[in-house]
Amino acid sequence: MREWELIRPDAVEVWRNKELVQRLWWYYNVMLDNAPAKYNICARIEVPAKIDELWNMSLNELWSIHDKYSEELDKIWLDVKSRVPSKHVLHEWTRGRLPSCSLLDVKIVLARRIVQSCHFCERRCRVNRYERRGACLTTATPRVGTYGHHLGEEAPLVPSGTIFFTGCTFRCVYCQNWDISQFPENGDEVTPKQLAIIQKHLRETGARNINWVGGDPTPAIHAILESLRYLAEWQVNVPQLWNSNMYLTLEGMKLLLHVMDIWLPDMKYGNDQCAERYSIAKRYWEVITRNMKILAEREEDCIIRHLVLPGHVECCTKPVLKWIAENYRDKALVNVMDQYRPEWLVVRYPHRWPEIARRPSKRELDEAYRYATELGLCWEPVTR
Ligand code: SF4
Repeated sequence: MREWELIRPDAVEVWRNKELVQRLWWYYNVMLDNAPAKYNICARIEVPAKIDELWNMSLNELWSIHDKYSEELDKIWLDVKSRVPSKHVLHEWTRGRLPSCSLLDVKIVLARRIVQSCHFCERRCRVNRYERRGACLTTATPRVGTYGHHLGEEAPLVPSGTIFFTGCTFRCVYCQNWDISQFPENGDEVTPKQLAIIQKHLRETGARNINWVGGDPTPAIHAILESLRYLAEWQVNVPQLWNSNMYLTLEGMKLLLHVMDIWLPDMKYGNDQCAERYSIAKRYWEVITRNMKILAEREEDCIIRHLVLPGHVECCTKPVLKWIAENYRDKALVNVMDQYRPEWLVVRYPHRWPEIARRPSKRELDEAYRYATELGLCWEPVTR
């Protein structure tokens, strides 16, 4: 028995749940090396151009190439999905030399161009991050606070190969990871190749996935995409997991859709007022539900997180759970999280946010669980 199985036996037992396997079918097969991770397909879809030519194209031209070959990828993905589990399919998409220019290369060039006038997230700072920082406090060179096998994630993800970036697109006053999210210098600069080496190491030492997290990983999209090219070249196969507040622009979403195998979105608030008050995020509900709908329509594998905030069951927890029930129907897995504790600015200035300067009560948590059950959500297998 491996050491982590002693600590998290539920991470093994959870796969006996047939419903859960069915809801995470793609991730499950990539995790077991019975299917190629999407980036391996993306890196092998040939685009008839030279990479030098891509750099000279306008953003519109690049997006038009991107969208054309993304459609091709989507067709291939559906076909591959229908054929797994299959070692033959795995070999087909993970072996052999990469084309000189692929859909993944187009994404890399697009992402690098976006960094020059950054709009990865809906703050749309439009700053050139090669020269200055955006609102997320990051430059174009990402920093990693820590990485390793994480045993505290949802059972299907453990052990999870987490890579924590510093900096964040949100300013949550109660941030539970404030030491890295609000202090980007608390991390080491990494190159895409170093990110790839970290991923390879995590996979070879037993990680079920690569878990991009922070802070928030959105400002590092360009480096992540570039790291995946190395992984594809080295014939490494590992599911990619996007662990994020989902405050991405459509452009950010489009860059990720064809390389992420499973999503761990955090639906925090049920309305814009709470998002503005606690995270200084505008148009929260519109942005988050737009992005989540894209995942739902594509039937992407998803474990949706919702952290129950004290005093926010009616205004946040219930609208979020209701939206999930209406839009994901029998597809979603939901983690109704109970671990909120006052942190960061709420501890320093409790008089400014007195309503969240406590843990959620048992009654509030029980009401959240009761409502999730009433809606017919599948939450118990992934809620700890
Ligand atoms: S990632 Fe978002 S917050 Fe950071 S610079 Fe880009 S648009 Fe601004």
